[in-house]
Amino acid sequence: MVNQKYKEMLGEKSVIRQIAETATARRAQIGTDEVFDFSIGNPSVPCAPEFTQAMIDLYETREPHELHGYSPSVGLPSFRGAVADSLNRRFGMDYTLNHIFPTSGATGALAHAFRAVTKPGDEVLTFAPFFPEYMPYVEGTGAHLSVVPPDTKAFQIDFEAFERALNPNVTAVLINTPNNPSGASYSAATLEHLAQVLLAKQVEYGHDIFLISDEPYREIMFDGVTQPYPAKFYDNTLTCYSFSKSLSLPGERIGYVAVNPRATDADIMVPVFAQISRTIGHNCPSSSMQLAVEQVSDKTSDLSIYETNMNLIYDALVDLGFDVVRPGGTFYIFPKSLEPDANEFARKAMEYDLFVVPSDSFGMPGYLRMSYCLETEHAKRGVERLRKFVHEVYG
Ligand code: PLP
Repeated sequence: MVNQKYKEMLGEKSVIRQIAETATARRAQIGTDEVFDFSIGNPSVPCAPEFTQAMIDLYETREPHELHGYSPSVGLPSFRGAVADSLNRRFGMDYTLNHIFPTSGATGALAHAFRAVTKPGDEVLTFAPFFPEYMPYVEGTGAHLSVVPPDTKAFQIDFEAFERALNPNVTAVLINTPNNPSGASYSAATLEHLAQVLLAKQVEYGHDIFLISDEPYREIMFDGVTQPYPAKFYDNTLTCYSFSKSLSLPGERIGYVAVNPRATDADIMVPVFAQISRTIGHNCPSSSMQLAVEQVSDKTSDLSIYETNMNLIYDALVDLGFDVVRPGGTFYIFPKSLEPDANEFARKAMEYDLFVVPSDSFGMPGYLRMSYCLETEHAKRGVERLRKFVHEVYG
């Protein structure tokens, strides 16, 4: 018989995917132009042209056995070295290739980070609102995910709530900046304060508390601002990254974990990750993918459309009377629902062929996540449809 735990999970499928599937079905009925799907965060811009060129060059110049052979279990040294150099140059770090472990996207990176620094029964803390997949990612390791209530003013950290939630069972704290779903980017002041609290608690509890920093949106930042680099503030940091969004390569499954060289056990962390891979059936990204991405690890796709879309949606939401924090990055925005039950709002919006995600599964009910991975012209028409919906339904 099929394992009961996974059987039960069939009943808890992702709300985001269910709404996106409804939008897809609706597109088949009435056509793409009339459906305004703000549900799923699926990069809408093409991959960086430098990546395509790198792939072409590789296929033309490298031996097939080099392109398609097994990668070492800790990844190709050239990929690891290129990532270390890039992070050192951009964020003033001092990684060597021995601190970099290539993974299957951010998902694979997080799977290794949790297992390396927590054990079954430990507690991992994260902050609402959070990416709903964190729940199965953490609970699947046998550790427990606890959620710190949000700072709804700016979606930074409510430090009083955080200190109340900390306890000796906590061995890891999980952050995501800039954030899915709020779009908020943690400031240097927030990261500094977070580091101070964690340092003090490590001493008080007499054990390490690792910061697991999930950063797949790091390069999608607005107003010319750069995301302060969390590992710069706190030694015990494992940085989990993905090229899914920055290079628009979500189907290629490539990312990494970067281990802060000053973290406890930093020198053995990558070999430990390789042992974890053996137990969970994870393999490094394909050799050809590592060889291509190592050439473009500093590049991004043209991400400017996300900022254009954010501005037009943010302005419209403010104009329509939504309570909304202006995102600092990502391709999400997180307004408060116009009625207390965001599920009702989302259901009514669907009657206007507008698809938004109610926030319950993000750890704080009453809000809506809107993703704007859309052509700007389509986003503009979506905003007009939103105006019509709000005027007709909420007056
Ligand atoms: N973390 C966050 C916050 C995400 O939004 C996503 C994907 O949307 C992931 C992790 C997983 O990223 P990947 O597809 O690179 O595994």
